[in-house]
Amino acid sequence: MSAMNRQSGELLEQIKSVVGETGILTGDAITGRSAGIWSGETLQALALVRPQNTEEVARVMRFCHQAGQVVVPAGGMTGLAGGHQSSRSEIVLSTERMNRIESMDTHTRTMVVQAGVILQNVHERAAEEGLMFALDLGARASCTIGGNIATNAGGVRVLRYGMMREQVLGLEVVLADGSVVSSMFNVLKNNTGYDLRQMFVGSEGTLGIVTRAVLRLHEAPLATETALLAVPTWDKVMELLRYFDAVLPGALAAFEVMWRDHYVLNTGPFSEIEPPLETETPFYILLDVFISDLDHGRAKLEELLTTCLEQGEIADGALATSESERVRFWQIREDFEPEQKKFERIYGYDVSLPLEAMPDYVESVRAELTTAFADAELLAYGHIGDGNLHFTIYPGQACARDAVDEMVYFPLKALHGSVSAEHGIGLEKKAYLGYTRSETEIELMRRTKRMMDPENILNPGKLFDL
Ligand SMILES: Cc1cc2nc3c(=O)[nH]c(=O)nc-3n(C[C@H](O)[C@H](O)[C@H](O)COP(=O)(O)OP(=O)(O)OC[C@H]3O[C@@H](n4cnc5c(N)ncnc54)[C@H](O)[C@@H]3O)c2cc1C
Repeated sequence: MSAMNRQSGELLEQIKSVVGETGILTGDAITGRSAGIWSGETLQALALVRPQNTEEVARVMRFCHQAGQVVVPAGGMTGLAGGHQSSRSEIVLSTERMNRIESMDTHTRTMVVQAGVILQNVHERAAEEGLMFALDLGARASCTIGGNIATNAGGVRVLRYGMMREQVLGLEVVLADGSVVSSMFNVLKNNTGYDLRQMFVGSEGTLGIVTRAVLRLHEAPLATETALLAVPTWDKVMELLRYFDAVLPGALAAFEVMWRDHYVLNTGPFSEIEPPLETETPFYILLDVFISDLDHGRAKLEELLTTCLEQGEIADGALATSESERVRFWQIREDFEPEQKKFERIYGYDVSLPLEAMPDYVESVRAELTTAFADAELLAYGHIGDGNLHFTIYPGQACARDAVDEMVYFPLKALHGSVSAEHGIGLEKKAYLGYTRSETEIELMRRTKRMMDPENILNPGKLFDL
């Protein structure tokens, strides 16, 4: 046995003494485990460690720190930037057994959870008390609160409630050396020096391991109405965003836009959903409106849509008539199966830029792409109310990730856009961080990382290289 193998064998024994037999998986026990629902690869790791609480995480980290062992934190592994990716020499620390909702307070409207709680479980628990957790996204049934915090997740309610950082009142984190920083506040206002909690939100597992959080809840709406609108021009898309926000103050909860190709694919032969609107327009808006008046809320929305139709603001529109229809409308926006069925390989993108620049940007990327790769295709859609655009790109026969990345990211520099609106940087966008953040900003991030993790053992190589 080599000295290195002996050393890692000793470390794994130490970890086992903390988490027990079932808390650590190695060898055959992890072979075949998925490396994430998106990657299609199997997990690579020296060991998969599954602690049950903050204390166990802290003790595991102390051993890893002493041994200089790299640790990659992992939640639901639904991240889309490669932040949870690991290699065979790294320990993956999974929060899958830290899945307890510890308490809920209906007066302060807060919930205390362990980091491995699945987002959908938080929704369901809050709903039992007529409350709502505002963060919502397509991976809700698999992603975890810890992952949501580490990526500062966005999703479909940002327009109304902000991103994940707005939903976290308190946080407990284990640092690289095993020390525990507990800031489990449950108050909205707390101006007592640096907001340490926010430093960990969006840090993608590079500064600490989130173990617990105090989440902010909101009153649940009485009902949600969902409408799908066919819109003839981009100017009208922008006008409608302001219009609905103005005439339904505080009630516009989602404003999503699909370019025609995305709408057609997700209501065509590769999908089980029939197109709710037959009218052909370049853009389709999907909006959610929270209703606080059951008698008049829906009628008011119907009236507004009729006015929009009469004034030519929209070419067609449909208001979902049942919960199942509402879900179907959303599937048109969120379903990824049709693109997976149609294309053998796809690249996903998540960028942000000013609304008025979006249509020209989309068409110039499309033109550059199809000039370079004749059989390439581009689908555009996103949380447009937040200035957040997603692309699904099929690069054609060419396997040209770097070239396509450059086509998508380079124009954002001049537009003052961001190479990552909500998915984070991880490994995938590391080379492009400098398109959005200045060298001075990146250097300050590096200094912070060196100060908090001098041995560089927590998710090294993600976000940036030291
Ligand atoms: C179908 C689908 C739809 C999606 N829609 C959206 C969307 O609308 N908006 C959006 O923002 N994202 C979206 N995502 C991306 C993804 O769901 C989010 O990034 C989510 O927040 C990741 O959570 P996770 O638990 O899966 O984290 P993981 O993928 O396991 O990890 C993500 C990152 O967080 C780190 N991490 C995980 N847990 C912890 C922890 N406890 N402490 C410290 N670091 C940790 C990891 O090291 C990694 O860097 C979508 C993904 C899919 C598959």
